[in-house]
Amino acid sequence: MIETPKLTTNQASVLEALEKSGRAMTAYDILDDVRESGIRAPVQVYRALERLMETGHVHRIESMNAFIACAHSHQKDHDHGHSEAVAFAICDDCGDVSEIPVPKAAKTIGAITGDSGFVTERTVVELRGHCAPCQERQGARAK
Ligand SMILES: [Zn+2]
Ligand SMILES: [Zn+2]
Repeated sequence: MIETPKLTTNQASVLEALEKSGRAMTAYDILDDVRESGIRAPVQVYRALERLMETGHVHRIESMNAFIACAHSHQKDHDHGHSEAVAFAICDDCGDVSEIPVPKAAKTIGAITGDSGFVTERTVVELRGHCAPCQERQGARAK
């Protein structure tokens, strides 16, 4: 069992950019943000992201092809970490992403594959819809 390794400078810069924005960012959004810290090539961003996903600091939002800093502490408990399911509620209007830990769903989804012999390593559920503030804005407009 390896302790969470120290992040490299590039990894720390990428993580900081994601944490500061608090939103899902594409690798190119991140690159724009970290240029000042000496990261010039997309491959450097991708490499840092790959490592940060392994350590559980960052999640990938497949449907947006974007990345978001983990909002929870599950990376600190790696054994029960990202083999758990993670759900993201993604607003189609403003692009806001909130992370919802769903340990129960993980068990249910795990059970579905139970007899097939398939071993689930990672479960990511992406919910598309409209966040509360956007619904309010739309409600206000409709009046
Ligand atoms: Zn997370
Ligand atoms: Zn929204």
